This record gives sequence, structure tokens and C-alpha cells, in this order.
Amino acid sequence: MTATAPREGELWSRCAGCGSLLYRKRLRRNLDVCPECGEHARLAAPERLRQLVDAESFTPLPDRPAEVDPIDFVDVLSYPHRLSAARAGTGLAEAVLCGTATIGRHPCALAVMDFRFLGGSLGVAVGELITRAAERALEDGVPLVLVTASGGARMQEGVLSLMQMAMVSQAIAALREAGLLTVSVLTDPTYGGVAASFATNTDVVLAETGARMGFAGPRVIRQVTGRALPEGFQTAAFLLRHGQVDMVVPRRALRGRLVALLAAARAGRRPGWRPAVPRQVAAPPARPAAVADRPGTAVDAALAAGVDAWETVRLARHPGRPTTLDYLDTAFEGFVELHGDRLGADCPAVVGGLARLDGRPLMVIGHQKGHTTGELVARNFGMASPAGHRKALRLMRLAARLGLPVVTLVDTPGADPGVGAEEQGQAAAIAENILSLSVLPTPVVAVITGEGGSGGALALAVADRVLMLQHAVYSVISPEGCAAILWPDRGAAPQAARALRLTAPDLCRLGVVDDIVPEPVPAAHRDPEATARALREVVLAHLLPLLDVPPATLVQRRRQRFRRFGAARAGARAGAR
Ligand SMILES: [Zn+2]
Repeated sequence: MTATAPREGELWSRCAGCGSLLYRKRLRRNLDVCPECGEHARLAAPERLRQLVDAESFTPLPDRPAEVDPIDFVDVLSYPHRLSAARAGTGLAEAVLCGTATIGRHPCALAVMDFRFLGGSLGVAVGELITRAAERALEDGVPLVLVTASGGARMQEGVLSLMQMAMVSQAIAALREAGLLTVSVLTDPTYGGVAASFATNTDVVLAETGARMGFAGPRVIRQVTGRALPEGFQTAAFLLRHGQVDMVVPRRALRGRLVALLAAARAGRRPGWRPAVPRQVAAPPARPAAVADRPGTAVDAALAAGVDAWETVRLARHPGRPTTLDYLDTAFEGFVELHGDRLGADCPAVVGGLARLDGRPLMVIGHQKGHTTGELVARNFGMASPAGHRKALRLMRLAARLGLPVVTLVDTPGADPGVGAEEQGQAAAIAENILSLSVLPTPVVAVITGEGGSGGALALAVADRVLMLQHAVYSVISPEGCAAILWPDRGAAPQAARALRLTAPDLCRLGVVDDIVPEPVPAAHRDPEATARALREVVLAHLLPLLDVPPATLVQRRRQRFRRFGAARAGARAGAR
């Protein structure tokens, strides 16, 4: 395990790698790498910056994002209490430091994460700051360097933390389009929502010696598979061997590697080259009136029904609930299934192909569960492998080329957390889908039909309209997973379900979901035909107006839709509640 960097005032520090007692000044001179065994201790963001950028060149981004506690999250401690403790413990305002600097006299924008601050978790303030750093890189026409250290999305901010993966990714997409280099430096540890977005969808991915990166953490994988993990699993060497990083770099060589990359990107600029004109994304539009404010919608019915969040989780997981293939049979016509990722596999947990909705051709892609244990096992419980995400991406791009709209049906407990999935690049596969959907030049309507589980759900849900069945759930983490981390016992899953705000009415109020598909009483499994009719009607109502929107406008509006989930709009959200 990794040592913690020495604190100020301590003369000696014990290496967590070999146990040697080391003189602190000597250790710091050696960049906090143990001179005896080479163990790389974790670095605080200010120290990391000091090591990487030219002296005196760092200028922090000017303004701070608003204070946020978007869902009033309380476990055994209140979220603001945890935030204050993190601030006092680190001296930082948030889990990332962003600004501009030069590295070897090459200008760039940087975002450096700090694992000491709530595990480097990605929340709306962190997402806002990193997005601003990327927007600054675009404005200045300079590369973006990201140094990641994170356990994943910040569950105290519920599904809004998941939205940050889309928000930062679309800023990375803008840099891609402008031909500006993006580099991420993976440091130990980089997991979950950060791994499955901006840590891996950059142009060049470096892993610092000793870094571990993955979509699912080792503890979760051991729990799910019930087996010991292979030696060196998810380490930098493992990532290099499996083609997931460009290089493994010891800390002493990191700055030099960045200088070389930035120099190459700069040399590639022809005389007179200028970056693409920055998009007007700085001032997101005011949020449209929440659907909940409109009278006579399904939202009213859902609110009036007032089903408890934990009961909703149980309904969303009901084995009789219609699956994607059921809807393709009932709500859609003429389904022609297309298979394969063209890279070596066909994932059974994702189905997709051409179909018609009320006579109009489109591409439908969805997670496939099943009704019996046999079906569920054959479909891996709707948990997509990297091949499933790559098949989905292939079909989305095909739809865009053919000018067909895309409808996605989301019903997954989460992406496959197995050893094989990690070896095949689960994090990068999800990250690429999120980025590509944010710029797909064709209408996209996503429907959360059952379980919208974390990054695996978002990989199919960066859309122009996000709809949700009345008793579906959409969450950054399962209530059981959240309870296991934040409560003293797993029995707290019902409390966690309520705290996470994962129901359709909650998510409408937060602006994450645009409309609700009503279900029969008590839920969809009672009358699948009626549910299919309702789904068809609501999807058509949202899809038809999108068909007339020019692709460029569509993409710009989609970007604005997700850009507003940053901290700048936190006040508006609080007011809407
Ligand atoms: Zn050592």
C-alpha cells in the first residue's frame, strides 16, 4: 500500500513500502519517493504542482464555484460537516486545484486532484472547476493536463455527481475538435467515475509508477466474483500490458515527459494556426421550468403517489418488469438486431439494432436483463462488458451516419465489475461512450426503464431528453453499496435509498430527468402492454420536435443541458427545490 506524504513539522517518516525510517527532508528532495525501495508516496495537489510546473508560473483560475449541498445528503454525518472537516484537514477549498502554468516554458491549463479531500471524489464543484480549466485551455489555445487521484464520484451529491462525468467529458470533446492536446496523468488511486471519464478519454494517458486505476475497486470485484484477484491487478504495469495507458513513468521523469508532449503538440501547430473559436458555453441558459411545475403531467401523479424510495428500488428490480427486448416487441416495430463490437466480442447484456417507432426508423440500444434466473445469467444481469459499450458506440455512430435518431433503454445495476472487464478497459470504454454521445450529431432520447446504475447507465444516457419510468431509479451508487460505505451496517440500504434522491420525481426536480413515463398500479410488471403504450407515447412526444433541429444546434443544446450541472447553477437548483 502507498505511504502518505509526510506532514509539515515531522522530521522523520516511515515508508509504507519497506518500513524504512526516512529523514523527511531527504524524502522530499527525492520527490517523496522512498530512496530505499522506490515506493511513491501520495502527493498533495500543491506539492504535485510544485514538482511539475515551472517555478512561479502557476496562476489559479479566478473564481470559485458556489457552495453546494445539492441534495441535502445526511448519513451519520451531514455532508456540509464532512466538507468543513476536509477543508480544515487539507487547507484546500475542494478536491482539485486548477489554473494555468508553464511546463518547460510551454503554456497549458491544469487540473490536479487531491486524494486527501474526501478521497478526491468528483462532485459538482470539482466538475465545475475541471470544466473551467478545460474551457480556459480552449480559450487560450493550449493543452490541458489532468492529474487524477480519486475514489470516484461523490455519492453525497447523488446523481448530480454522475452528471459531472458528462460535463467534463464534453469539455474534453471540445478540445479534441479544436485539435488541442489533452493529457491525463493517472496517480494512485484513480477509480470509478473519474477513471470512466476524463482520466481515460484524453489523447494521451500516463500512469505514474505505483498508480492503480480501474472502473471497479478491488474490494467490489472480490465481492462480486468471490475470487482472489490476479497478482498486480490494476497496477500501472497491468494497465500498460493491457493497452490502457501510453506509458508508465516514474515520478522523477514525469515533468520531462510532459515537456516532451507539450513541445510536440506546440511544434505541430503551423504558423498562423489558431484554435477553433470557443463555444459560448460560459453562461449556461436558465433551466427550463421543471416538468414538475407543469400541471397535469405524469410527474404530478408520481408525486401524489408518494412511493417510498426503497420500495421504488424493489419495484425497479422486479423480475417481471419489461426488458428492452420486450419493449422492442411491443412499443417498437420491425426490430432488426445488430451484433458485435468488431473488435472480438458480442456482449449479451446490450442489445441494439434498427427498429421503427410509429413508422419512423431509428436505432434502439438498451441493456437486456431477463425474467428467469437462466435468462439473467445468460445476459450477465444486464451488466455490460467493454464489448457491450463498444457495440453501443458502433451503433450510435452508425445511426448518426445514416441520419437516424437514437433511443436508448437503460436498465442495468451497473457496468460489469469483473476481472475480464477491467483487463479489456471498462473505464475507457464507458468514458468514450460518454464523450461521443455528448457530440453525436443526431437526436438522442434516453429512457431509464428500470435500474439506472451509475457509470454503466450514463454510458447510454447522455441524451437530448432523459426520460424515466415512474418506478425506475437512477443513482450514482446502489443503496446497498452506499450504506456499506457511509453507514455502520448494510441494513441501512433503505435510508441510503432515501438520501440518494434516486426516484423519478426527485430527478425531475433536480433537472436530471425531463419527463416521467407513467406506470400502471402497482408497477410495470402488472401490465407490460399498457407500460409499452405509455413509453411509446412519451418517447414520441419528446423525439418528434428534435427531428427538425439542425445537428449542430442539437449538439450545442445537448452540451448546454449537461453544462448546467456544474456548481455555477447550484443556487438555482436549491431555489427550485
Ligand atoms: Zn521504502
